[in-house]
Amino acid sequence: MNTGDLLSILQLIYSQGLSSQAGLAEKTGLAPSYISNVVSELRHRGLVEEAGRSPSRAGRRRVLLRVNPRLGHLIGIRAGRANTRIVVTDLAANIIRLKMIPTEIHRGERHVFDLIDRELRAILEHDRLVKGIGLALSGVIDREQGAVLFWPKVPGWSGVPVKKILQDKYSLPVVVEDTVRTMALAEQRFGVAGQFQNFVYVLVSMGVGAAIYIKGQLYLGADNLAGELGHTTIDERGELCSCGNRGCLEVYASGWAIINRAQAGLSQGVHSGLATPMGRHPERLSIEAIVAAAKARDQFAHTLLWEAGLHLGTGIASVVNLLNPEAIVLGGEVARAARSFLLRPLFHSLKTRTFHRSAQNLKVMVSRLGGEAGAAGAAVLVAQQLLPELLDARQA
Ligand SMILES: [Zn+2]
Repeated sequence: MNTGDLLSILQLIYSQGLSSQAGLAEKTGLAPSYISNVVSELRHRGLVEEAGRSPSRAGRRRVLLRVNPRLGHLIGIRAGRANTRIVVTDLAANIIRLKMIPTEIHRGERHVFDLIDRELRAILEHDRLVKGIGLALSGVIDREQGAVLFWPKVPGWSGVPVKKILQDKYSLPVVVEDTVRTMALAEQRFGVAGQFQNFVYVLVSMGVGAAIYIKGQLYLGADNLAGELGHTTIDERGELCSCGNRGCLEVYASGWAIINRAQAGLSQGVHSGLATPMGRHPERLSIEAIVAAAKARDQFAHTLLWEAGLHLGTGIASVVNLLNPEAIVLGGEVARAARSFLLRPLFHSLKTRTFHRSAQNLKVMVSRLGGEAGAAGAAVLVAQQLLPELLDARQA
């Protein structure tokens, strides 16, 4: 049996969470007897273990396999604009420890790394099982170098070699990835996207981004930049975007855009329930406050969200026409907080701007994962990268 097969079966078992031998044979097209040999070798090496049986149907109940979660611990970090979430997980990405620290990301990389450093040192002091660190950031990432190329509206991060900084500091393998992709990975692994092979995960938070899955695999693009949905044009002569272009979707449908429009309206004296609590501090306006006002039937807040939903639908309609996915999965704090207000106008745009057949079969779902999904996804990403090393370390 060759090592390549051992690794690819190990990776398949990992990516599926739970697998049966029959399922592995179906997926790979390899003979069941060969799969059986590979699996017993992986079990012998302690990499794979039994995890119960599949629910009984007509036939025999199948033994379910999983990667041994006790092979090591992982640290997953999502550095967001307002908060940084740090998780410690086992190898199967079950969260053992979760911490949220307020971050002022605009204060630059040193400030954020100091905050993270305090937490990581406390973790690593007590946990000798940690095998790697995954970091999710919202900027545009050079995946190979693990550096931030550009972070719209967040100064002080361009060109920062985040991977090298963490690697040098903690002497552990480090993976750096765009938050949209780690959230999509978490969604595929633990959320509603697991049932789809071809889906697009759309993150609606302060920015807008997407991760495209084709045949179960993330599509990266020639330069690893696929998924910049927020910077697709929906109005050629529209407002200027932070990327330098005009009329990007992000200028109309992101959390940042919604808040901006709310502030502009309030400063012009628009009649709204939001005017009173924000008083002289419109900079404190949040998506939660706008959603709460919309729930209290505030017309201004309702219109803000309705228009954002329409624009979001226009952007997503282009994706649907281009890729004809099985599903669109919406995630991110804005999508979660404002779902009931965004979905109706979004469906309206989709209906008018996509082909009837692709819209008819399309499923649109909102993530049910919590705010820690981006950090957990970063941990999964490191685990995936560590599998060859774990296999090597456990020779028969
Ligand atoms: Zn843009």
